[in-house]
Amino acid sequence: MKLLNFKATSHRTTPASIGTPVRSAAMESLIEQPGPIEVKTVGADWRANLSGLLNLKDPKAVKAGLTDRKEPIQIYTHVVRHPEHGFFLVDTGVSRRLVEDPASVGVGLMLRKYGGISDMRPTQSTAEVIAAEPSPLKGVFMTHLHLDHVSGFPDIAKDVPIYTGADEAEAGLFLNIVAQGTNNHLLSGRPPLEELQFTGDPDGKFAGVNDVFGDGSFFAILTPGHTIGHVSYLARTATGTVLMTGDVSHTRWGWENDVEPGTFLAEREPSRQSLLALKALSRRHPDMTVKLGHQA
Ligand SMILES: [Zn+2]
Repeated sequence: MKLLNFKATSHRTTPASIGTPVRSAAMESLIEQPGPIEVKTVGADWRANLSGLLNLKDPKAVKAGLTDRKEPIQIYTHVVRHPEHGFFLVDTGVSRRLVEDPASVGVGLMLRKYGGISDMRPTQSTAEVIAAEPSPLKGVFMTHLHLDHVSGFPDIAKDVPIYTGADEAEAGLFLNIVAQGTNNHLLSGRPPLEELQFTGDPDGKFAGVNDVFGDGSFFAILTPGHTIGHVSYLARTATGTVLMTGDVSHTRWGWENDVEPGTFLAEREPSRQSLLALKALSRRHPDMTVKLGHQA
């Protein structure tokens, strides 16, 4: 659906000041080795239509008898700690201020009406997640710029750097008609979005891989489809490697059955290819912990 070319946000962007494009083989050669990152995941209960989360027209979904319903899911923020670079978030979780008074933090009328905000149940507001860390928040790595991923921004200080995939802000999508005003409000007064750089993968496994801190501990993987600039992240911890897929797969059933998201996506075929690429990665490295977009 490309009737109109609305951007996800008209907020300014700039190439990220950190991160180096690398080939996927460089990342994969390290996956079995313990690393220095710590990851802690905080979830807020939510629910959404299964037809958005999962392609119910896929033959496997039809065969399993899946039909549309309200599916219980979670909205996550992942606390990522690096011993030298400090404390970061992957996606933003949920700010209680946004749930209690969405208009006051700039959520537009359409999203207030249809965005499911009143169903968001944060046990820990993003402000509490940040306050619980002994050091200041150094940056936020976004998988993409949908409401359920930017919903913690009201609790994040205005000077904190925000990293996205290249072209995430510019990506034209009809849905952005409702999202753009809200994203602009949530991003207003903040520095330009820092776009992580990708130059393709000489090994042909992914659309691109970026070594974010330059020490092989934390990687961004370009996984387009759900949105044009969607990014997944991979962290090497002392107890093994953790893959944060973002909305390459919202649901556990979709991940286990190779079925891509439903109506909540920009382009179906790239979305499916990104899912299959991450599934193949997890098969090559079966000990890796996989954290999905919206289910455990
Ligand atoms: Zn999502």
